[in-house]
Amino acid sequence: MADYRVEMDRGMCISCGNCIETCPDIWEFADDGISSIKDADTQGDLQVKVLDDLGCSVDAAERCPVLCIHVFDGEQELA
Ligand code: SF4
Repeated sequence: MADYRVEMDRGMCISCGNCIETCPDIWEFADDGISSIKDADTQGDLQVKVLDDLGCSVDAAERCPVLCIHVFDGEQELA
């Protein structure tokens, strides 16, 4: 059974916008000008969100120039 989640370290984000352009269903710019996962659990700079399906999350992770987005299926890192 799929156990997808996406994680992001906002402290590394350079606000290039690639994730938002690639996957606006999941990412948006927050009021502080840094990309943010919509409706994520947030602890400090770390955001985590469980996904029902991968959608465009892997594409977004692969387009992040600073590699601060990671997508998992359980313990397996997909991107
Ligand atoms: S692609 Fe990466 S660096 Fe660019 S806005 Fe998204 S999280 Fe930030």
